[in-house]
Amino acid sequence: MLRGGSRWASRFKIFLPRLKNDYKTPPFLLTFSSSFTTTAPTAGTGAADNDSSQPGRPSAPPPIQVGFTDSAGRGVFATRRIAAGELIHTAKPIVCHPSLSSLHSVCYFCLRKLLPDQRPLFQSNDVQFCSQECQNQSQVFHEIERRADWSTFNDYCRMHGLKYPLLVKRYACLVISGSSSASSLDILQPASLSSEMISLVEKEFCLLRSTFQDADINTQQLAFLTKQWYTGVLARIRINAFRVELACESYEDLLSSAAASVEAEGAVGNAIYMLPSFYNHDCDPNAHILWPENVDARVKALCDIEAGEELRICYIDASMDYEARQTILSKGFGFQCNCLRCSSHH
Ligand SMILES: [Zn+2]
Ligand SMILES: [Zn+2]
Repeated sequence: MLRGGSRWASRFKIFLPRLKNDYKTPPFLLTFSSSFTTTAPTAGTGAADNDSSQPGRPSAPPPIQVGFTDSAGRGVFATRRIAAGELIHTAKPIVCHPSLSSLHSVCYFCLRKLLPDQRPLFQSNDVQFCSQECQNQSQVFHEIERRADWSTFNDYCRMHGLKYPLLVKRYACLVISGSSSASSLDILQPASLSSEMISLVEKEFCLLRSTFQDADINTQQLAFLTKQWYTGVLARIRINAFRVELACESYEDLLSSAAASVEAEGAVGNAIYMLPSFYNHDCDPNAHILWPENVDARVKALCDIEAGEELRICYIDASMDYEARQTILSKGFGFQCNCLRCSSHH
């Protein structure tokens, strides 16, 4: 997921308050049953965290629980033994968006790579979809989005190399259309933004708001879109967005290598997920996230995991040396890594 070390996934770790003392027992607070996952708020591709649609797979809840760790706040734990290579769960995004450079080569809804002969088939307002179904499902945001002229907003993002405002834009369209609540992301931990960052955000916010206003979205529908809302959403996206990199070979082959050394075609976009955001980081992870086809994420075990063991993924390029990892984790995520690997400075 995180090759190149240029952009990382996300996480909670020290952004969480130390809740240990508030929650003495039980250690596990949330269990992800299929009923939870099928009602999870989703918009990116419109369904649940737990993929029960695979042929031959019963719709069992994933073998994990979210609880509190001794030192890193919230974390994900195995509820039974999980074998190396096992698919732990899948996850649909809450919101996703293609990168601007991939706009014309991936599906605007699910980020699947488009075949050249597919491009004219499902086209709408200068964006393409891989299928009629994706086009239909995108209506929840696209009907609002297509009413506005996004050229200034996109140019601004392109010029400044910004990708997260695109996620906020799509999320705002979902809220305006009534298909998402303006507080859906509140459960995610926010990054703490410096005052310098907050002043930079002002411009994006004003552009977003004026683009909607120019499109005659009425004031009542835009009531949620305050600078405070924008900043809060951006602060959550900042540390919880996953950079989506489609694996170009069979993802089964990738299990033999660490997440960070996997070859991929490069990022096609960014996405926010609920359950994957609860995983803590480890530089020698026991789980990883793959995108074999599109924005639907698959969390797989990299090694045998015992019941009760915490599942951790690597937020960064694990092939980097100790110093580089510490620098990125500290600057990008705000914590110092004390994993076993870092303890021995490897
Ligand atoms: Zn699609
Ligand atoms: Zn570490």
